[in-house]
Amino acid sequence: MQPELEVLTISDRVSETLYSAKAGERFAGVDVILSCGDLPPDYVEFVQDALRAPLFFVRGNHAQKMTRGGPGERPAALGGIDLHRRAAEHQGWLLAGFEGCVRYRPGPHQYSQAEMWLLVFELLPRLWLNRLTYGRYLDILVTHAPPWGVNDGADRAHQGFKALRWLVQTFKPRYHFHGHMHILGSSQSVATRFAQTWVVNTYGYRRSRINPAGELGGGRP
Ligand SMILES: [Zn+2]
Repeated sequence: MQPELEVLTISDRVSETLYSAKAGERFAGVDVILSCGDLPPDYVEFVQDALRAPLFFVRGNHAQKMTRGGPGERPAALGGIDLHRRAAEHQGWLLAGFEGCVRYRPGPHQYSQAEMWLLVFELLPRLWLNRLTYGRYLDILVTHAPPWGVNDGADRAHQGFKALRWLVQTFKPRYHFHGHMHILGSSQSVATRFAQTWVVNTYGYRRSRINPAGELGGGRP
């Protein structure tokens, strides 16, 4: 049985609360950091150093211009595990992830709906292997973009991926953490129950308590 975890998700906006000398104190108790993209690697590294917690990440569509690397490079936060197109296991929890958003202009880390379907299909053998090994396909999906029709937007840049919606419906991860959707007001919901999954939008940061029963606790402090 997987332990209950306190998860810190970060994305899209550098938080002064986290980028501070007191972060380690204030965020004591965080078991794992999930970065959902569009953050400078220096900041992500700082958060990991301050909290001394394992880090898993995916890149957002703005990853490139926020890094020191030149075109074609894929700089990343050191010491973290890139979940893009990968499955990983952490303390009995099964993770997988996909970077980027729906292609809306030339640039890296953007995918057409068809391209994302292919990436998702490529991951299926890993999910089936999980099922054989652990009895479950997937617990935590980490992406930059939301699934189609859940927490997504009407404009092309903020449409969700249809393949992610299918993945969530079919393999029933308990949690799907994503970024990319900027929250403009406090009335906007960040956590949506969809099928058997909590789909959680991170903008800035969010602390979530997760457990094997699939309950979602915590929130932005
Ligand atoms: Zn984005």
